[in-house]
This record gives sequence, structure tokens and C-alpha cells, in this order.
Amino acid sequence: MRYEGTIYRPPGEWKSYLLQVTVGCSHNACTFCGMYKDKRYHVRPLSDVMEDIQMARAYYGDVRRVFLCDGDAIALPTGDLLAILRALYETFPALERVTTYAGPESTLEKTPEELRTLREAGLTRAYLGLETGNDALLKAVCKGVDAAGMLEAGVRLRQAGMDLWVMVLLGLAGSGGGTRHILDTAAMVNEMRPRHLSALSLILQPGTVLYRDWKAGRFTPVTARESLEEVRLLVEKLTVDPLHFTCDHASNYLPLKGTLPDRREEFLTALDGALAGDVALRPEWSRGV
Ligand code: SF4
Repeated sequence: MRYEGTIYRPPGEWKSYLLQVTVGCSHNACTFCGMYKDKRYHVRPLSDVMEDIQMARAYYGDVRRVFLCDGDAIALPTGDLLAILRALYETFPALERVTTYAGPESTLEKTPEELRTLREAGLTRAYLGLETGNDALLKAVCKGVDAAGMLEAGVRLRQAGMDLWVMVLLGLAGSGGGTRHILDTAAMVNEMRPRHLSALSLILQPGTVLYRDWKAGRFTPVTARESLEEVRLLVEKLTVDPLHFTCDHASNYLPLKGTLPDRREEFLTALDGALAGDVALRPEWSRGV
């Protein structure tokens, strides 16, 4: 398979054929994100993408899942995305789902009708990096949209019929800022109503603005305790029912995974145990992005 640069995918897409349709992220400005710093954003020629699909057919045979890379494939012109979806479903008769990251800015550039057309053509799931529901923090980390824009992007994806998977970032406000960050985040998730929510923890990555801020003493990361308190507050405040909740990423101190609200009490008990020092946390050295 032909890939340009490092390829990232959501953890749940480990079984998917990764088809690179864009290189990098169309936004590439978030102060905490180092994923695509080595790439200059561009759209791959449609003819190359179509060739890749045929190469994948020859190499893998039939596939059931495809994830469109890189960081924001929804930014592709709608006509190109539709052509790619058509080619994928024609080439792989067993194909069940095609998924993508959806940047909020790029999502808002699509009309609700375009998003619905993409869903009907087989774009089944969108992963949205919500990060925080706090308006000031979204602006501070240069996410490209304010809180109203983020909410609108998520609601449009859900209303288009996509299986919406939202990611939020624990520790993004730094030490002392968690309560406002999490209260606003929970409120936005409750209004957006995704089916899935992943809470990841901020890992400062060299080459990013936030890493430089940390080194210069302008940003103080949360402690493990503060991170657990953020998860606890989030779990307590979420009201979406049902919500598939995961907090088991390599960056997290205490792995939690299950459906809310059914497992809320169990998660809160586990978090209280961890906060009391009764449960071992993931050691700092083994945490990663
Ligand atoms: S939109 Fe996503 S991939 Fe792009 S810079 Fe921000 S966090 Fe990174």
C-alpha cells in the first residue's frame, strides 16, 4: 500500500483498511497536536486513490471496513468523496462501513444535504475531535471554531445519520482549569448527543505550541490526581443515554470502558478508589499518544 508520512487512525479502526485520501490535516493549527507537523496538507489525486483501491483489492481481497486518512478526510470535495465511496462499495462487496475523522471547520463547510448524501453513499461514521466545550479554551488552542461552531458541526453529523464518535481531551486547560473545562465539555456532549465518547489525556508533544508553553513555564500540566478528578466530573455529568464511553487510551491513567449510564456507579467507585490510592494507575513512563 502507498502511504505518505506517518498514518494515524482511531484505536477502534485497527481492523480497517486505511485509505489515504488527503495528506495531513487541512487545519493543522491546534496548539496541542503534533500529528501532522511533518506534512504539508494536500488532497491526493483522485486517480491515485482509485489505483490504491484496486491495489488493496489485489492485496487484501474483500474488506469489511475502511478508514479514510489523514486527519480530516471530510475536507475533500463532496463529489470526490462520493466517487471514492462508490468505488469502495463496488470494489469490496463485503464492505460494511467507511469512516473518517471530521474536522469541525470542514464539516461546517458541507451543507446538511451534502452530509446526508455522504451518509447515504456509505460514509457511516465520523470521528469529531471536540476536545473541550469551553469557548475560551477552544479559541486558546486554535481549534478553528468556537463552542457554537463545534456544537453545530457535531449536531450536523448526527442529524445526517452518521454514527458520531466524539473525542475530548482531559488536561487541556492545564492545572487548576479542569472544572470549567469539564463542565462545559459535558454540557456540549449532552447537547450534541453522540453515540460514542472517548476521553483521552493530553500528552505534550515536542514541536507543538503547547509543549513550548510548558517549557517556558506558561502552561502547567494537570497532575494524575487532577486528571482523575476530571474524568470523575465528566462521568458524573454526562446524561446521554445510552453512551458508549471509553477512557482506555494509552494516555489515560485509569482504563474505563462501557456504556453510560448503566456503568456510571461502577466507574465512579473505581475512580474514587484510584483517588484514594487503592488502585494502581498506569505509570507515567508507559503513557503515550
Ligand atoms: S484538527 Fe485534529 S488533526 Fe488537525 S491539528 Fe487539530 S487536532 Fe490535529
